[in-house]
Amino acid sequence: VKKLSHLFGPVPSRRLGRSLGVDPLSFKTCSYDCLYCQLGVTTCKTVQRKEWVPLNEILDELSPALESRPDYITLSGSGEPTLYGPMGELVRGIKTRTDTPIALLTNGSLLWKEDLREALRDVDLACVSLDAADEQTFRTVNRPHEDVPFDRMLQGLVDFRKEFKGQYWLEILLLDGLSDSDEHVASLVECVRKINPDRVQLNTVSRPPAEQIARAVPQDRMFELAQRFEPHAEVIADFRGTHDMPEFVAGRKEVLRLLQRRPCTVDDIARGLCMHVNEAVKYLEELGTKGLLTKTQTAGRLYYSAAPE
Ligand code: SF4
Repeated sequence: VKKLSHLFGPVPSRRLGRSLGVDPLSFKTCSYDCLYCQLGVTTCKTVQRKEWVPLNEILDELSPALESRPDYITLSGSGEPTLYGPMGELVRGIKTRTDTPIALLTNGSLLWKEDLREALRDVDLACVSLDAADEQTFRTVNRPHEDVPFDRMLQGLVDFRKEFKGQYWLEILLLDGLSDSDEHVASLVECVRKINPDRVQLNTVSRPPAEQIARAVPQDRMFELAQRFEPHAEVIADFRGTHDMPEFVAGRKEVLRLLQRRPCTVDDIARGLCMHVNEAVKYLEELGTKGLLTKTQTAGRLYYSAAPE
């Protein structure tokens, strides 16, 4: 896995194959502060779209990184990628350099902005999140910026569907006891009907035993809930951990070795091992699904440790 500052990977992605990540933000710049965020607390909560990092720096890194022949170039990053002001220029810049399809992972909070929808026109696949079906659950789970009321966000998802010609996958992340009740899922089914995405994918958090804040929905319940959507949702939560790119396995071992020495935040891991924070998150996800991690919350920071043998 190459070490670059605005790109990361390719990393294995269950949905996207080998994904080369593009991070157009400074660390943890987001319109939300989700309870389950693996990057930790949002340090810059904003709805301001601007050029957080220079466009030419990102594009200069891209050409050599394409030699790794990724399946997707994925706009994601250490926060919410649609906060990047020159998004249209970024998408066009990628398209002039490669035919590799572009995926966008977005929390969907800003899709009510018409200029953003226009900027995303040439993206091939949009994976849009929706974790709540009402204002109260939205505030509890996603803790959005005050300028993102639930109704406006939902309308943005609906409007984007009408205009966007690429694939539109809606990802719903459910949390045990917070958003997985029968009533709430029935309301989510209604939201999905309004949005009309190409696919609906259900996820939950990976589940190290000591998770205290955001708990995973059990596997059986996930499959049962998936049947309530029309068409049926796919369960994308990875309950086993199946990624096996050789360079990825090597990185995972490095992270585990570090965590056997001392507890670390995701940021500590990224700094300590000179990797992008999103790569560190990928390794942690894998280790979590294999039951090799514990998490603890200390002074508002999330620490990972190796599980006792
Ligand atoms: S939207 Fe994504 S990056 Fe932002 S807080 Fe939620 S999980 Fe973290």
